[in-house]
Amino acid sequence: MRTRFVILGGGPAGNNAATHAARLGAEVTMIERDLVGGAAHLWDCIPSKTMIATGGAISFSNRLKGMGLESSAPSIDIEALSHRIEGIEDKMRHNVTDILESQGVRIVRGTARFTGPLKVEVDGADGVETIPFDAALVATGSYPRVPEWCTPDGDRILTTRDCYPPKTFPESVTIVGSGVTGVEFVHMFASFGAKVTLVVSRQQVLPGKDPEVAAVLEQNFMDRGVKLLMGARAEAIERTDDGAGVIVKCDDGRQVRSSHAVLAIGSVPNTEGIGLDAAGVHVNEWGYVDINHHCVTNVPNIYAAGDISGKLPLSSVASIQGRKVAEHVMGLHTRVHRHLDYDKAASAIFTEPEIADVGLAEAEAFSSGRKIRVTKVPFSATAKAMINDDVRGFVKIISDPATGEVLGGSIVGRHAAELISVIAVAVTASLTVTDLVESVLVHPALSEALAEAAD
Ligand SMILES: Cc1cc2nc3c(=O)[nH]c(=O)nc-3n(C[C@H](O)[C@H](O)[C@H](O)COP(=O)(O)OP(=O)(O)OC[C@H]3O[C@@H](n4cnc5c(N)ncnc54)[C@H](O)[C@@H]3O)c2cc1C
Repeated sequence: MRTRFVILGGGPAGNNAATHAARLGAEVTMIERDLVGGAAHLWDCIPSKTMIATGGAISFSNRLKGMGLESSAPSIDIEALSHRIEGIEDKMRHNVTDILESQGVRIVRGTARFTGPLKVEVDGADGVETIPFDAALVATGSYPRVPEWCTPDGDRILTTRDCYPPKTFPESVTIVGSGVTGVEFVHMFASFGAKVTLVVSRQQVLPGKDPEVAAVLEQNFMDRGVKLLMGARAEAIERTDDGAGVIVKCDDGRQVRSSHAVLAIGSVPNTEGIGLDAAGVHVNEWGYVDINHHCVTNVPNIYAAGDISGKLPLSSVASIQGRKVAEHVMGLHTRVHRHLDYDKAASAIFTEPEIADVGLAEAEAFSSGRKIRVTKVPFSATAKAMINDDVRGFVKIISDPATGEVLGGSIVGRHAAELISVIAVAVTASLTVTDLVESVLVHPALSEALAEAAD
């Protein structure tokens, strides 16, 4: 009999597990209460990066003079922007659904919950269905965290999900939260011409990131007129008396008035109401489901992947976890499996300049006393950066001084999110700096800075 594999949630973790397990021969049912593609397609990665790309086009048009061109400033067509976002989401959803269906995955629309360790109940348009399983995956994702001191109204006090695009476009906006999402939203609204204030609870944006990288971004924000409120913790957001704006109040007494405020203070895992207790699955004190290196929960035939697993909250990580789950469900882990090493996951921040990193960070190596070799090359040393009229940023490679093994790297600058892939492959495959130096790369290209940094 084929393995009956049931998946709760059709985001990147769920749909990658479904496709891969079906390819490997499982009988797969994927249950999704909303839209296939998950929050990643509907609320997070796709719409935010689509908005950022349009904002980037505005920034680029402001730099056309440097390319020898005269132009007038573009104006925003909100309706066209909304259609563009919906169009991309729609195409992505169809692509994913086509792949799932082509592999024979049964997609069930409805809300799922465990009713025991071997069955799931789905409440859908056609009534309630009970689905028995041999293995199950919990991939129900997360939603934006809303603190008790504020009530988003979808109009002026917004979560990230209200921003694609907002009902009224902000003249001025206060972003609360200076992690990856917060800084991306600062960049996005600043590109569209809004006056932006960022409330930063620590003394550095992007806490935990390389301070040199964070400093480049802070400088860029200040150059663009973004106001940084360092060391301030928001403790209330209220509508102004005339209703036309908001006031963000901070714990040190500072207050910021703006037309809109956006909360970007992290997310909460979707564990409520899905019957984890009925299945015997433990949830930890932060509300995440604990997993081992095969994404198995404390119940041997139940897996968890994606945001709910409390690892790196990235679509890319959710996808690969889903794939690993499928391999484990089908018993492939004994033959072809390589453990997913979260420390080697590449990540990017879609600001201007873009920021990307992978593997060991310089500060981390110093604090652990590990000997490393750090080499840094500015993009201004490459012909392509000059041709692009954008020489901002650098490539930094961290390697082992004894063996030359590439341990990590960071890139700040144009196309950093693409270029980091080269270092990511080197880190995952334990390549050396010599492997990078001796790869014959394209000229003229920004990747030449990578080979230079490896030399
Ligand atoms: C603003 C923003 C931008 C981001 N940008 C990026 C980016 O550029 N790159 C990147 O890698 N990551 C990005 N992320 C993170 C990324 O979106 C998440 O890590 C990713 O969506 C997690 O995937 P998932 O499969 O765990 O869950 P989700 O994508 O959240 O999917 C979970 C699905 O489960 C469904 N579900 C929940 N409960 C039930 C139930 N009971 N029954 C049936 N279905 C259910 C939900 O409807 C949802 O469709 C961003 C996040 C945010 C907030």
